[in-house]
Amino acid sequence: MNKKIIASGFPLAQNFLKKVAGDPSVQLVRICERKGKRTTDEELAKKMKMKVTEVRTILNRLHYRGIAHYQKTKNKKTGWYNYTWEIKSKRILELLLEEQKEAIEKLKTTQSFEKTYTYFTCKRNCTSVPFEVAAEFQFKCPECNSTMEATNSDQRVKKIEKQITGIEREIETMAKII
Ligand SMILES: [Zn+2]
Repeated sequence: MNKKIIASGFPLAQNFLKKVAGDPSVQLVRICERKGKRTTDEELAKKMKMKVTEVRTILNRLHYRGIAHYQKTKNKKTGWYNYTWEIKSKRILELLLEEQKEAIEKLKTTQSFEKTYTYFTCKRNCTSVPFEVAAEFQFKCPECNSTMEATNSDQRVKKIEKQITGIEREIETMAKII
């Protein structure tokens, strides 16, 4: 069964879709998920108050990732082809899972670095650099030129842990409804 990932409002899924097919794709997928039936690009264009060509661009981007599927039928009277579209929400989740696995790996690497090394930053928090780099800058922030000091890595490690837990929790919830 096709469940509603975007219409349910998961921020991770929405941001992923925006990256893949642009901001209006969220609205497009939401309309399709709510409808639960095949729909034409003309109908979508009307509902989204967009040009049909713009809607087709979004659909093509989604199709490229396997999120949108179409069916082609010939209109016997006109001889033209009609395209009806449907959204595979499960595919959004699959792609998202792959992407988030990588994101979590990266966060974990950062986390282990943070645990091992002392980082330096200015009061404004422009940038965070390890000791060697800070020493090269003579402990002056390369962006605002104010003094850089060692920061508490425990706090950053906790912040990263929170980020990881947040991602994992949202994925778990999404996986349950699919
Ligand atoms: Zn600075």
